[in-house]
Amino acid sequence: MGELTTSIQYLSGVGPKRAELLRRELGIETLSDLIHLYPFRYIDRSGITPVAQVAPDLAYVQLQATVVRRTLLGPGGAIVSQETDPIHFGACKRLSVIVEDGSGQMEMVFFKGIKWNYLRLTPGSTFLFFGKPQAFNGHLNIVHPEVDVPQEGALSQGALTGVYPSTEKLKTGGITGKVMCKLQSAALALCLPEIQETLPEYVLRDLGLVPLPYALRNIHFPKDSYALQKASYRLKFEELFFLQLSLLKQKFVRSRGERGIPMPKVGPDFHACYNALPYTLTGAQQRVIKEIRSDLMSGHQMNRLLQGDVGSGKTMVAVLSCLMAIGNGYQTCIMAPTEVLAQQHYANIQKYLKPTAVQCALLTGSTTQKERRSIHAALEDGSLGILVGTHALLEDNVVFKNLGLAVIDEQHRFGVEQRARLWSKGPSLVPPHVLVMTATPIPRTLAMTLYGDLDVSVIDEMPPGRKPVQTMCIGQNRRNAMYKFMRDEIARGRQVFVVFPLIFESEKMDLQNLEQGYEEIVRAFPLPDYKVAIVHGQQSNEEKNFNMSAFAAGRAHILVSTTVIEVGVDVPNASVMVIESAQRFGLSQLHQLRGRVGRGAEKSYCILVKDVKTSKEAQQRLDLMCQTEDGFEIAEQDMKMRGPGDLEGTQQSGLPIQLNIASLARDGQLLSEARSYAGRILDADPTLSAPQNAPLLRELRKDKYEIKDYSKIS
Ligand code: ADP
Ligand code: MG
Repeated sequence: MGELTTSIQYLSGVGPKRAELLRRELGIETLSDLIHLYPFRYIDRSGITPVAQVAPDLAYVQLQATVVRRTLLGPGGAIVSQETDPIHFGACKRLSVIVEDGSGQMEMVFFKGIKWNYLRLTPGSTFLFFGKPQAFNGHLNIVHPEVDVPQEGALSQGALTGVYPSTEKLKTGGITGKVMCKLQSAALALCLPEIQETLPEYVLRDLGLVPLPYALRNIHFPKDSYALQKASYRLKFEELFFLQLSLLKQKFVRSRGERGIPMPKVGPDFHACYNALPYTLTGAQQRVIKEIRSDLMSGHQMNRLLQGDVGSGKTMVAVLSCLMAIGNGYQTCIMAPTEVLAQQHYANIQKYLKPTAVQCALLTGSTTQKERRSIHAALEDGSLGILVGTHALLEDNVVFKNLGLAVIDEQHRFGVEQRARLWSKGPSLVPPHVLVMTATPIPRTLAMTLYGDLDVSVIDEMPPGRKPVQTMCIGQNRRNAMYKFMRDEIARGRQVFVVFPLIFESEKMDLQNLEQGYEEIVRAFPLPDYKVAIVHGQQSNEEKNFNMSAFAAGRAHILVSTTVIEVGVDVPNASVMVIESAQRFGLSQLHQLRGRVGRGAEKSYCILVKDVKTSKEAQQRLDLMCQTEDGFEIAEQDMKMRGPGDLEGTQQSGLPIQLNIASLARDGQLLSEARSYAGRILDADPTLSAPQNAPLLRELRKDKYEIKDYSKIS
């Protein structure tokens, strides 16, 4: 017993040195860790390719061929010795072995293990060579093929060979693919008898899943491709299922357990604002407001994530939600990630509040002491209805009389602790309702996982009248044409954003690029005809605000900036977004930036300027930008190109658990099935206390399912 937790060091063929290597390179410490490291690819070794048919575009081939001649080569390819010469291994850099199989001849090349391979590959003997052919100097060879002695009947069994994740250090430390297979085989022999089924019998039957020991054996050593498919399906399902089960269970406990402030009314201010709106709400906005209304009435705490693309009208939803809370006698706050955004929210919200009696104030880092004192007083006596602000809202001396709803805009810019501090500002013991808004579209599968225990609302409809943004990608050679286009737009009374990639705001190089870019723009757009403003992260808040407001108010024609303008800023008169060195931006950033234009009535443009050095992947991103404006489609593609872990919005919070075999990008369908199946089980047995669900409860108690509780921190 206890094999699963045995240190890897004691597995035959490992020992202390290799154990350390496995730990450092792959994080493997126990036998259980090892058998949960699955191959990421399989090689079909069931067939033998004639040498004459080998081509460089074949992925892997297996040859059965006889050694003709061995040549040892020194530095620069000088021949050190051939078959008949005396051997000097010391000076050799390379071993070349010519083999033939009757259809033709081919070269096998070894840079390592020269002596060992020279001695065993004796002319006239026949071997199986397995590897990836490549064209070199006009002829084909295989570098470091796997070499085996052919055995009767050996080909048909174990035809699919797993390929495990590896590193250079592992290989030089002797843990080659072949060794890894041997270790897995030894570990499985010890562990399989101890493996406990994690899924209840009825689930296996219901869904036709193979038992866990079978799945583990066949994921490492597939009997055939059918067995591999069954094994992989079972393991993927299990992984997604337990993840969703734990998220849903938490959500269930929370919605039962967490008391929330009951807000049964809507109130006169809501109606006053609603009736005075200059437009009708979109269907999506109406639906979301209904969802929020029923949350607020429920007596349980609301924890809702509102997703909506840039410009989909989230501010309106936030304001109406605040007015509902105010209608029940509570205060509210709206927190934005930057000062500029907070100011803009404040200005917009004040407009919406005109028909109401609600008091609203702005609190940021640059609010004066005098203003602060009057805000603090109005917060404490309850006369202030909405406090808009930045992180300044989180300071200890900001005390509400009765905070009932906190709205957090652009949630991923906030750290976890900061959100927790907001939480503590509710009236004694009962937490405020929380609405988190994000303009970063997240693929559905990722949202289900990242926010699996939150309620998610999506505004998937744009307000009418939004014009599509025409997007094009140009090279440096068309810069002058672009300047002419910008002049034409400015002549028509429009404004232009020019954004430079300042990925790391502190990096001098990047700042230099920005400054040079700014100077070039100023030369091309000189005073007095043109005014150019500049905003970047190294400026003081006053400088930033001064320049931003100059542009927002139309006093500057062009705003040169870094991505500080990425989120939220609304200048409807701006019709052109120029993105310099666009190849350096990620998709979601490009999408956010493009969302800054197309907000007014005019036709808008986004010009992606790429440098000469643009990689294939970067070009793919730029092409996608030119093809679609749909943020969710872009997010899906982004996830496929980069993997879910790198998506914006996930880096900070991180995925709740590491997925081992399933992929959020590829297994979306299976994820939905797993989630709804988990939901059905919880509906029937919310505490999983029925005897047949005992295995589920046991599995969920494992450490890896101690998922960060997003409801408590958002
Ligand atoms: P978001 O914060 O989601 O990016 P905003 O709330 O800033 O979007 O709204 C973008 C613009 O659309 C604003 O100018 C707003 O006044 C306008 N708007 C919002 N809802 C509607 C609607 N239903 N019909 C027309 N315009 C709308
Ligand atoms: Mg917004």
